Amino acid sequence: MNLHEYQSKQVFAAYGIPVPTGRVAATPEEAVAAAEALGGSLWVVKAQVHAGGRGKAGGVKLARDKAAVHAAAKAMLGTRLATIQTGPEGLPVDTVYVETGSAIEREIYLSLTLNREKGQIAMIGSAAGGMDIEEVAAHTPEKITTVNIHPAAGLQPHQCRRMAFALGFTGAQIGEFQKIAMALYRLVMDKDAALVEVNPLIVTKDGSLVALDAKINIDANAVFRQPELAKMRDTAQEDPMELKASEHDLNYVSLDGDIACMVNGAGLAMATMDVIQQKGGMPANFLDVGGGANKQQVTNAFKILLSDPNVKGILVNIFGGIMKCDTIADGVIAAAREVKLSVPLVVRLEGTNVELGRKMLTESKLDLQTAVSLDEAAEKIVKAAGGHR
Ligand code: GDP
Ligand code: MN
Repeated sequence: MNLHEYQSKQVFAAYGIPVPTGRVAATPEEAVAAAEALGGSLWVVKAQVHAGGRGKAGGVKLARDKAAVHAAAKAMLGTRLATIQTGPEGLPVDTVYVETGSAIEREIYLSLTLNREKGQIAMIGSAAGGMDIEEVAAHTPEKITTVNIHPAAGLQPHQCRRMAFALGFTGAQIGEFQKIAMALYRLVMDKDAALVEVNPLIVTKDGSLVALDAKINIDANAVFRQPELAKMRDTAQEDPMELKASEHDLNYVSLDGDIACMVNGAGLAMATMDVIQQKGGMPANFLDVGGGANKQQVTNAFKILLSDPNVKGILVNIFGGIMKCDTIADGVIAAAREVKLSVPLVVRLEGTNVELGRKMLTESKLDLQTAVSLDEAAEKIVKAAGGHR
């Protein structure tokens, strides 16, 4: 679960991490009122969307007077902001964050995230931070420093110093950086964060460190024990189909292709997507209906798949273990009748009660194809959906 920048900065502030002062606004008038309340003569108006890359997409604007604050807020609010991280459809800008502007000396990248190979939290930093960090990572990875944090020991002062030197800090900044790094690590542990990113962490003209941007992602499986953060969820920023799927306890991820998949078990779903691609097709989604899905869930899953206008065909690939093949066949038949199938459907069942399941499908007289092997199923659906790409 992602937090908005302004929410992340509230959390940062609670951990003593220095952030600029700011206020949220939902209208241009509120943005002007926010600037007035903040005072000063330089403000930044920032679109609040669950994505980075806003600066390059016109979602971060400096304003030197109230008219400019009004104009920036007006230009952003009510629109969809497409950045390098969102895809062309972008994300809705329902609020902007108005901040006191900072005078920047240099921009640093700092993040903490899980290093899955090590099974440890990694602190990642680069002196070449700011809006081109992706370029740095791609072309000059040696400019990035990583420190892995042992869970039993926690983040150590010597690790903070090592990172501080790599980031070019001297004198009092080293201690300041250590405080920020320690606070970020505590935050990650307390809040079950999968990612905390500060890009940029700035050195101001007067030499102090400030988190100018803030991104927090909470591990979705831990949100239940973070009730305060759960309240911050903004479902308007989420993929509508993924949201619907999560309401029905389905594991669903939207993808760019046109062949919808309904599979049970994440491993089988991955294998199914691989075989579809091998046959020249592109999966429209990853959908795991789970080990114990019932007829209702299969129907819900079908509805979600069919609500994607890109879908040109559906492949059902289910291994009947806990869930028997006749239950699946029952669900498929009921769902296909209820939602009025508008695209080709290929069903491949295997496992418990497979004969019964296949018989039910054949006798249903529904317009669908069956397949025995995954290979055959993938070939059939790619062909039915319009062939190779
Ligand atoms: P992102 O593009 O979505 O990551 O948004 P950021 O919050 O990181 O802002 C993008 C860029 O805008 C930063 O890297 C800064 O260069 C610039 N910026 C943001 N806030 C300020 C500010 O207060 N003063 C100045 N001078 N630049 C800012
Ligand atoms: Mn940023």
